[in-house]
Amino acid sequence: MRIAQQLYQQMVDHGYTSLPNEACGMASGKDGQIEQVWPLVNERPSPHRFFVSKSIVFSTLEAIEQSGQQVLAIYHTHPGTAPVPSSYDLQSHPDTKVKMLIISYKFTPPRSACYSVLSGRYVKHPFHIGDR
Ligand SMILES: [Zn+2]
Repeated sequence: MRIAQQLYQQMVDHGYTSLPNEACGMASGKDGQIEQVWPLVNERPSPHRFFVSKSIVFSTLEAIEQSGQQVLAIYHTHPGTAPVPSSYDLQSHPDTKVKMLIISYKFTPPRSACYSVLSGRYVKHPFHIGDR
C-alpha cells in the first residue's frame, strides 16, 4: 500500500489533534494507492479505543463508493503504545480485504505500520510513504 507524503501528514495531524485519545478514519483509493483520507469522529473518546457508529461507517462507505474508489484501510492511532494491533483491534476489524493502519505517537516522529488481518491474526503488510 502506498500513500503520498501530504495525505499521510493529514492522518498524522488528525491523530495529533485527537491526543490524548485515539483517532480513526478510513483511507480509500485504487490498486493499493491511497488517494483520499476520511477522518472520522471517535464517538467514545478514549486513549485505548475508538468507536464509530454503524450509520457513520455506512455513509462513509457510500461516499467512497460514489467517488469511484475502494476502501483500502481503516486507520487509527495509538497515543502511547507501539503500532501493533491489540486483541480489541483484531476483534473489531470488520473486513479481511481492508488493511489495518496504525500510527503510534509513542515515537517522534510518529511511526506507522500496516497489517492484513485474518481470523484474529495479523501479518505486516508493506506500506510506503512518499511521492512516486
Ligand atoms: Zn489499536
